[in-house]
Amino acid sequence: MSARPFIYRFTRDLRLDDHAGLAQAASHGDVLPVFVIDRGVERRMASSPRRAAYLCAAVAELDRALRERGARLIVRRGSAPSVLKHVARGSGAAGVAWSASYDAAGAQADARLQSELEEAGLRAIAVHDAAAIAPEEIAAARASGGDGYRAFAPYFEVWRSLAVATYDVPLLVRFAASELQSEPLPQPSEFGAQPHAIEAGAEAARAALARFLQGPAVQYAAGMNVPSEDGTSRLSAHLSFGAISARGVVRTVRARIDDPFLLSEERASLRLFLRSLAMRDFFLQLGYAHPRSIDEPLQEKMRAFPFARTHPRLDAWRAGATGFPLVDAGIRQLHETGWMHPHVRAVAASFLCFDLGVDWRIGRDEWDRYLIEDDPVLASGNWQWIAGVGADLVQYPRIYNPEKQRRRFDPSGEYVKRYVRELSHVPIASLGVSRADDAQLALALFASDAYPQPIVDHDEQARAFLARYRAFAD
Ligand SMILES: Cc1cc2nc3c(=O)[nH]c(=O)nc-3n(C[C@H](O)[C@H](O)[C@H](O)COP(=O)(O)OP(=O)(O)OC[C@H]3O[C@@H](n4cnc5c(N)ncnc54)[C@H](O)[C@@H]3O)c2cc1C
Repeated sequence: MSARPFIYRFTRDLRLDDHAGLAQAASHGDVLPVFVIDRGVERRMASSPRRAAYLCAAVAELDRALRERGARLIVRRGSAPSVLKHVARGSGAAGVAWSASYDAAGAQADARLQSELEEAGLRAIAVHDAAAIAPEEIAAARASGGDGYRAFAPYFEVWRSLAVATYDVPLLVRFAASELQSEPLPQPSEFGAQPHAIEAGAEAARAALARFLQGPAVQYAAGMNVPSEDGTSRLSAHLSFGAISARGVVRTVRARIDDPFLLSEERASLRLFLRSLAMRDFFLQLGYAHPRSIDEPLQEKMRAFPFARTHPRLDAWRAGATGFPLVDAGIRQLHETGWMHPHVRAVAASFLCFDLGVDWRIGRDEWDRYLIEDDPVLASGNWQWIAGVGADLVQYPRIYNPEKQRRRFDPSGEYVKRYVRELSHVPIASLGVSRADDAQLALALFASDAYPQPIVDHDEQARAFLARYRAFAD
């Protein structure tokens, strides 16, 4: 190990434990922790106020955790290559390690950083930390080699069979003593955001996992699609900022599965939860192997499919005023909280792509303005999956009927009424009927805050879309 320090540049990996990047940096020298606010960070944070609030809180917590270990975070603003070269000159550092990006813009920035650092005579090491099982481990295990899996089922077969690495960093890492000054920690206002109270950072992430494992995890199979229940883990934002290690989550769940006292339904639930975590890794490796898929359909033949760029009722969808209560509740949940229940995301996204025939990128970019999660690859992968142009290789897209989904997964109307306040006093039996058929709903139509009529006829639109899809794809 060199006597010179080694810089670790934090990005979407805001924690100290089980950290592949920190472990790599620590193997080269005492670690100098740096956080760079460059144009990429500014752009992502300026796009969603709650995302900015999450980042600021998580960076502050990371700095506190470093101070407890006698170190501190050096925050700098500017282009990453110049900032890091400058810090390296000031500290005598031998090189820089960071966690690899999986989205096209991030991967390009990584490549630029690597070459500029190397030209300056510094070592540059991008480490796979975000996924529980890194794309290169999957590729190494794959019999046929190639550029990653395009279908989830064979990917999951391999994923399941691989062990998850562990990087017990607090025991190994030593931080460098440095006289270098830090600029102030980031504040939401610098990204144009108001402060938001947000559960952010490593401690909140650990608490979310503990809450989930204490109850909902063993009923995940039954609860994961019921939006009124807290039946999913709510880990997505924490995972996207790396406030919790995906490896740690997978290891913990795998260990629970081995508990001989579990009921078989409980074990099945935990397996399903692992499948969700594997989906995340799957989309990350897809983004890594196919950078163009961030903006282009993964399926070549679907690149020319004529999705519309707009629709006369697009603004109603954006606002959560489609007249379909489950879709509207989901969109309003997103506006209010920065998160939307996973199953409702699928229904609301399907509505945009199929009922309105609008391009999945319009929906992805719209939700990006509200989501806390900072995961462009997962957003594109999922939107493509729903739109039937990505990795889900079904013959025809799955078009969700929003009313059937509401009756099945929110039969009491609890979720819908929580977010669509105009409907809070409407009897549940009336929710699915035409306004004209129901006296109480018809009355509500005359109020100034009336709930809107359905903006389209779902059955008609679904049939019309499928006809266009068949004509194009067959
Ligand atoms: C149209 C659409 C858009 C989406 N956009 C995003 C996005 O921008 N960013 C994002 O992080 N997730 C996105 N998702 C995936 C998923 O809905 C969210 O991660 C959701 O917040 C998970 O909630 P949870 O943590 O309670 O999930 P849980 O059900 O508890 O799952 C545990 C973890 O598994 C991972 N996971 C679960 N489902 C998926 C999935 N379908 N794809 C990838 N990973 C998954 C997540 O990391 C999640 O935290 C999208 C899904 C759809 C259908």
